[in-house]
Amino acid sequence: MPLLVLKNLSHIYHSPSGETEALKDITLSVNEHEFVSIVGPSGCGKSTLLSILAGLLEPSSGEVIIGDQKLAEAKDLIALMPQRDQLFEWRNILKNVILSPEIKRNKTPEVIEYAKKLLEKYGLKDFMYKKPSELSGGMRQRAALIRTLVGAPKLLLLDEPFSALDFQTRLAVCDDVANIIAEEKKTAILVTHDISEAISMSTKVVVLTERPARIKTIYNIELDRTIPPLKRREQKSFNVYFRNVWKDLEVSNE
Ligand code: ADP
Ligand code: MG
Repeated sequence: MPLLVLKNLSHIYHSPSGETEALKDITLSVNEHEFVSIVGPSGCGKSTLLSILAGLLEPSSGEVIIGDQKLAEAKDLIALMPQRDQLFEWRNILKNVILSPEIKRNKTPEVIEYAKKLLEKYGLKDFMYKKPSELSGGMRQRAALIRTLVGAPKLLLLDEPFSALDFQTRLAVCDDVANIIAEEKKTAILVTHDISEAISMSTKVVVLTERPARIKTIYNIELDRTIPPLKRREQKSFNVYFRNVWKDLEVSNE
């Protein structure tokens, strides 16, 4: 049984200046432990789709099923990692990581232990009591990811999480994030406009059309998942996937 099923999702924004059709008839299923990337022209509706999956926006029509539950009943199974790391400078890293359980009045000793365990496991033991500004860009991103893991979600939603990073850091952080998500056995949906990033990190790449976003093509990516994403870029079929996705996007930009 798939973990996530999107059935004929459509969305139209209504505003005083008129209507904007953002999504049209999106049908997709995602299995447990898959890593799905979504690419598409800017403004096509990618963030709209993630907002719906995160339960922040009600779709105009269609439905989202998680396991055997409706989305509204399964919100705890999903965590969204935003574009900026949104770490608060006035809280140390550990306190940032447990912010969400704290707000939900769910900050049990077990949650704190789990947060500490994750920070230790992923190399942030010595930074637990430091302020965000004392960490490198890559470490901040790792802390932001650990924050999304603390509530033990099954599905992680990542909306262009690397766009604020410089190129070199971005490559390292991609490997880092892919490794943590695989190691923690999570399912992930990543929105990115970087084709190489999408192909190298994913089991599946979904290409969307211009707005209103429809599904143009779905690629099953069969690169060696025992090596890190950066290394996967050196595999022969990587270039074939790249050219195909590139062509899809080129056509939809015309
Ligand atoms: P993407 O993430 O692919 O760049 P978005 O999902 O953010 O695209 O936006 C898709 C379209 O919907 C854009 O034309 C955007 O201007 C419009 N849009 C996004 N949010 C709103 C909103 N709250 N109200 C009205 N229109 C919106
Ligand atoms: Mg967006």
